[in-house]
Amino acid sequence: MRILALSLLACAAFAQSRTVLQTGALLDGKGAVLRNQQIVIENGKIVSVAPARRGQKADYDLTSLTLMPGWIDTHVHLHWHMDANHKSVSGGVAPDEMALFTAADAWMTLQAGFTTVQSVGSSFDGPVRDRIRDGVLPGPRVLTSLIQIQGTGGGRGQQHAWTPEELRAMVRKNKADGADVIKLFATTGLGAGGGQSMTDAQIQAVCQEARLLGLRTVVHAIGDAGAKAAVLAGCNSIEHGTFISNETLDLMVKRGTFFDPNFLVLHNYLDNRGSFTFTEAALKTLQDGLAPTADVLRRARSRGVKIVFGTDAVAGSHGRNAEEFIYRVKDAGEKPMDAIVSATSASAEALGMGRELGIIAPGFQADFVGVTGNPLSDITAVRNVVFVMKDGVVYRNLAR
Ligand SMILES: [Zn+2]
Repeated sequence: MRILALSLLACAAFAQSRTVLQTGALLDGKGAVLRNQQIVIENGKIVSVAPARRGQKADYDLTSLTLMPGWIDTHVHLHWHMDANHKSVSGGVAPDEMALFTAADAWMTLQAGFTTVQSVGSSFDGPVRDRIRDGVLPGPRVLTSLIQIQGTGGGRGQQHAWTPEELRAMVRKNKADGADVIKLFATTGLGAGGGQSMTDAQIQAVCQEARLLGLRTVVHAIGDAGAKAAVLAGCNSIEHGTFISNETLDLMVKRGTFFDPNFLVLHNYLDNRGSFTFTEAALKTLQDGLAPTADVLRRARSRGVKIVFGTDAVAGSHGRNAEEFIYRVKDAGEKPMDAIVSATSASAEALGMGRELGIIAPGFQADFVGVTGNPLSDITAVRNVVFVMKDGVVYRNLAR
């Protein structure tokens, strides 16, 4: 106990002290490249970014790295893990085990350079989020929906279509239980075809009630009809969006709706197929989902949709979140800088934290990821994470 207390004290003291980083290449999160800067950090925040002055000593020499704002993953499932036999587990085990795996997945995600995640979401996220926030458990900053809202429910054999009033009450309870964001399903999954699964009135009830309470809404939508209904209902973000039409993309630009396409989840299922229980037909559907994902990302980018960075990380993906950068660049032809801005300032804006996270500038949180190599010329450099700082505390440093 005394050891724990002492180490916490040391941790807190470290975060409050003044730290200077000497950088080589620096990507500021908004699209600019700076060189040879010194970053001064106090109390977990950046206080200055300026050209290095001769003789000014730095605490960390990061001149051999490319330094970026800590990455943000706007769509993960922290509780969903692999068991000892490398089989996918998303429920049905003891709560203490689920909570520990949630914490372990959070740790792997932080070590991979992601200093903020939005988990959408399970009840196990709440206690893990709180302990990370309090500085007693290492992990990324976690925002969570705690639950996922569907159009029907009520138990086995008694499927009941929720009334708009019931859905509004559900949103209020979710907020009271501590949710940071509301997650809803406007459509079925990719395997079932992605047809609209909540009525327009149901989607409106959830997104309007959340807005009244000051909460954002992120909407699972595979097909176009459900996505369009969510955009028209004023929901904040469309997740997956595999088959969104150009008309709906244009509507998203007009409404300021964020778009969160996800490659890693499909590749992860295919690469770890032995860990899940997919039929051959389901595997083909996942494989067939890759080309439309690349296509919709290209169409969304060319139309000026606000594109964020989410992986839909499930069992097998935690700690590999950065693979999404590589799929985006190699399979969808994204510019590396666009993908990096997407995972930093654009995602911070989508989380309502655009003035705190995602940019390297005075006043922002001291969240950084440093990689060897230059991701602008070779995107696979995102795999080489050697430095991670969150709120001014170093959680990984292989740069020495
Ligand atoms: Zn998901």
